[in-house]
Amino acid sequence: MKATRISETALQLTRFGFVNAFLVSEDDGFTLIDTMINGSANELISAAESAGAPIRRIVITHAHSDHFGSLSSLAGELAEVELIASARDARLMRGDRTMEPDEPEGRTLGFRGDIGVGFDRVVGHGDRIESLEVIGAQGHSPGQIALLDTRDRGLIAADAYTNLGGLATTAGPYWRFPLPGFVTWHQPTALESANRLRDLEPAWLAVGHGMPIDDPVPDMDRAIARSS
Ligand SMILES: [Zn+2]
Repeated sequence: MKATRISETALQLTRFGFVNAFLVSEDDGFTLIDTMINGSANELISAAESAGAPIRRIVITHAHSDHFGSLSSLAGELAEVELIASARDARLMRGDRTMEPDEPEGRTLGFRGDIGVGFDRVVGHGDRIESLEVIGAQGHSPGQIALLDTRDRGLIAADAYTNLGGLATTAGPYWRFPLPGFVTWHQPTALESANRLRDLEPAWLAVGHGMPIDDPVPDMDRAIARSS
């Protein structure tokens, strides 16, 4: 597992060169954002130990298995950890595919049944998780969330963007890294979210797949223009 320092308070962890999780420092230890694929729990725990603090809470950005894959193992290993997800995707991860009344019909090929783990806290746009502000980033999944670090305005955008072969939105398949776009639940909603995240003018951008970028707005503009 490779660890890349993004900012004073955020560390990107990368496995197999393409799947990311993040450790964000808080006063009491780390918030782990996403858990990679199944089988990554021990390496994630070791990465936090090497970085010098325990994992206190885990936030799952969206209901895809390359993001929640090691959640149940981590929940078993870490007794006191708080498990957090968006209310909408928490429901999907419990195998409930009921639509919300105001939702468009989307593709559901990326979703599994019940992952067998319950969440201690569900959140939505505008909520706070310690120093992180929850930003609604739905589209790639019905309830995807991004996380804005209020200390330096760095943004962890989950799969609203990918950065393998260049920054791209997931509002459609990107030829250099098409998979996330293929499983996107609803493309027009994903494009709206990509725009909303861009309008935050983040200081840095980190994504579920690929390396982080400083001053990302010009790249975000190009990615949005390509998807529009
Ligand atoms: Zn995804």
